Amino acid sequence: MEQYTGKSIFKKIAIGRVYLYQKKENSVRREHVEDVEQEIKRFEAAKTVALGQLERIYQKALKEVGEDNAAVFEVHMMMMDDEGFVDSICHIIREQKVNAEYAVATTGDNFSAMFAQMDDDYMRARAADVKDISERLVSVLCGRETDMGSLDEPVVLMADDLAPSETVQLDKAKILAFVTRHGSSNSHTAILARTMNIPAIIGIDVQDEWKGKTVIVDGYTGNVTIDPDPEYLKTMTEKMQADVKKQELLKELKGKETVTKNGRKIHLYANIGGVKDVASVLQNDGEGIGLFRSEFLYLESDDFPTEEEQFQAYKTVAENMAGKKVIVRTLDIGADKQVDYFGLAKEDNPAMGYRAIRICLDQPEIFRTQLRALLRASAYGNISIMFPMIISVQEVLECKRILAEVKAELKAEGIAYKDVEVGIMIETPASVWISEELGREVDFFSIGTNDLTQYTLAIDRQNAKLDNINDPHHPAVLRSIQTVIENGHKGGAWVGICGELGADTTLTETFVNMGIDELSVSPSFILPVRDAVRKLD
Ligand code: PEP
Ligand code: MG
Repeated sequence: MEQYTGKSIFKKIAIGRVYLYQKKENSVRREHVEDVEQEIKRFEAAKTVALGQLERIYQKALKEVGEDNAAVFEVHMMMMDDEGFVDSICHIIREQKVNAEYAVATTGDNFSAMFAQMDDDYMRARAADVKDISERLVSVLCGRETDMGSLDEPVVLMADDLAPSETVQLDKAKILAFVTRHGSSNSHTAILARTMNIPAIIGIDVQDEWKGKTVIVDGYTGNVTIDPDPEYLKTMTEKMQADVKKQELLKELKGKETVTKNGRKIHLYANIGGVKDVASVLQNDGEGIGLFRSEFLYLESDDFPTEEEQFQAYKTVAENMAGKKVIVRTLDIGADKQVDYFGLAKEDNPAMGYRAIRICLDQPEIFRTQLRALLRASAYGNISIMFPMIISVQEVLECKRILAEVKAELKAEGIAYKDVEVGIMIETPASVWISEELGREVDFFSIGTNDLTQYTLAIDRQNAKLDNINDPHHPAVLRSIQTVIENGHKGGAWVGICGELGADTTLTETFVNMGIDELSVSPSFILPVRDAVRKLD
């Protein structure tokens, strides 16, 4: 048994098999090989493994999605065994004395370029299939897995790093825990792990040999144990079961009010990244949604989500929440949340750069599409709109002006919408210091403690090296929160917290004493926070 310690970002235990996550773009290096026949054997062996994978996927697809949809995997098997394809790979290995990975990738590129130029639609469409099979082969040759779809059981996902855009696309039902080498506890990938209610540990030197081995991920200690001894496995299994029991106890708080012993009610909402997170909000008895990070709709997509696509997403969430409040934050793209199709230039300081509301006000056509979708969806539930990264009253007035224009447009078109509440995120020191003026312009504030901590302490939330001093309990952050609550109330706005700090039960009493109105937390923290509030006098 081998044990490594990293930094935990979600306290829970998972036991399962290691799955090494391979980024989609396998960069292949050209390497010289002396023994070409041996290299061809290596390729043949990889082909056998890849064909086995495809056969398993095909059988599974047959059962789950029917023969027509499964047929594509049969085509993949045929292509992988195609004489021309195999001959080309062997020829490149022999003639150029290169590694199999390089020969496969080159053949894949050549064949897919050839298919792409064909007149026939069907043949042209095969270009993507050739790319797919060559990537599968390269992954097998590199000793990495790529296809979560072929997994029969949930796994512990290990990777060097995971971008938020990759994390949102993973099949969450198949992941027991995340273990990564890089990342920081306030990154969006960490936030996603908390939303998914799974243990996650960062700072572990993930090794290829761990693939397929049994691992225990202990989110309480930050320990990752490979090939655990039977005794340790037994102890940790019992600990995991005790955890489940604790969760069961918390379930007794479902249906109860989030209220202190002397009757102070706190609105306890949830943070979500998309439609599929609503189920866990309802399971955990969330009283509303305090932060819908709408940018994940953009991250999941290969192109700008259309008004209709966005409308459907917001409408579904509003309807599923059945009249409970749903606060949708407008697009907060940029910094660690990068989307290729936005074509954002590389910046030295992206966290302080062209992002969030700055993009929306600079490219109002993107903003208007989102506002139209939101207003249309407002007719189906209780939607509020929130603007991120605000630094001035001017920005708020501009947002409200555009919102009013979009409303007028919808009215003229005879499309129904409601008079939604409008709020802003308080996550910059500038907004803290003008919160009294801002409070007069909006219905509510939601304090984004993740960014507020980053900007107040001048600590990049993505920088794992600074995790040890990235202290959201810093008096400067806590005093900012106090100021915002007081000023918001003076201006007539209610005030909540939607940053990760809102779920920190060691501070629940402090926030309640400061006069907080709402806390919005990852779904799995709803019941622990309700428990903490109900214990207060
Ligand atoms: C925050 O900054 O606290 C926040 C809630 O927004 P995000 O984490 O998405 O930046
Ligand atoms: Mg933020």
